Amino acid sequence: GQKVVLITGCSSGIGLRIAVTLAKDEKKRYHVIATMRDLKKKDKLVEAAGDAYGKTLVLLPLDVCSDESVKQCVNNVKDRHIDILINNAGVGLLGPVESISIEEMKRVFETNFFGAVRMIKEVMPDMKKRRSGHIIVMSSVMGLQGVVFNDVYTASKFAMEGFCESMAVQLLKFNIRLSMIEPGPVHTEFETKMMEDVAKMEYPGVDAETVRYFKDVYLPSSVDIFEAMGQSPDDIAKCTKKVIESSSPRFRNLTNSLYTPIVALKYADETGGLSVNTFYNLLFNFGPLMHITMSILKCLTCSCLRRRTISPN
Ligand code: NAD
Repeated sequence: GQKVVLITGCSSGIGLRIAVTLAKDEKKRYHVIATMRDLKKKDKLVEAAGDAYGKTLVLLPLDVCSDESVKQCVNNVKDRHIDILINNAGVGLLGPVESISIEEMKRVFETNFFGAVRMIKEVMPDMKKRRSGHIIVMSSVMGLQGVVFNDVYTASKFAMEGFCESMAVQLLKFNIRLSMIEPGPVHTEFETKMMEDVAKMEYPGVDAETVRYFKDVYLPSSVDIFEAMGQSPDDIAKCTKKVIESSSPRFRNLTNSLYTPIVALKYADETGGLSVNTFYNLLFNFGPLMHITMSILKCLTCSCLRRRTISPN
């Protein structure tokens, strides 16, 4: 029969694409429950789903930050039976920490970390009873490697990685699979929303030197990196479908081979100095030429630094 897939955060970006890709599966193997906070934002998804809408794709409201909303949503699923849970909802946060309130930081953790944990807590007991299920978590390369001025976002993804690494062990005993997807930059509203937030920023309590590093050094190179290395939401959706359909899905799944040297650096030097110094040099010594530097790095990277990625094709 069809597998029931519940996805969070489907009004845009990666979540929307995963929902549509699975709903349009040629063999109609999936019944997709695409969820979003506000169903008024459904138009883009409905349009992209086309004929699948109302057939292999249905909508439910869900705010991952609300206990009540999560419970209600899962109770509205027939027999509470979810075969595949895709935790995709997430928010970004960029800027010098001095200018970010603890409240804003908590909002990021509330969505990116507790949001996914809340979903897993609600769905996992039924999966355990059935001794089957697959939980997917949309992490990030930033769940494996810290990135300057993304301190809190990175921390929220690291938190998720730690949570899942711990959970995976007991879930295996119940025949439940757990997979993290770790994309690099992806062209979605995520990027646009963050840039808009940054444009509005006033940097209270931040010294001029730090503001300068953020605005004049980090931001331009970050834009370059998105341009040079960004994947499409469709790429990530295809990778996710592959992970779901694998007979032995991997726990960690990097989607962008350009990022594997960065992860490899981390494991190549247990003192952590190699990573910190490399990023320091990339930002402050090669910043304006970041994308050129990255392409050189890519060419020079020896095979021992390459890690297997999941490819969209
Ligand atoms: P996006 O902003 O287009 O999508 C995020 C979705 O989550 C939005 O539809 C938003 O409405 C939803 N959302 C936010 N808070 C929610 C809540 N409380 N309840 C339910 N839904 C909520 O961005 P995206 O790039 O598609 O992001 C999807 C996931 O991919 C995120 O977890 C993000 O961290 C991760 N990711 C993104 C990138 C990137 O570069 N875009 C890279 C790596 C990982």
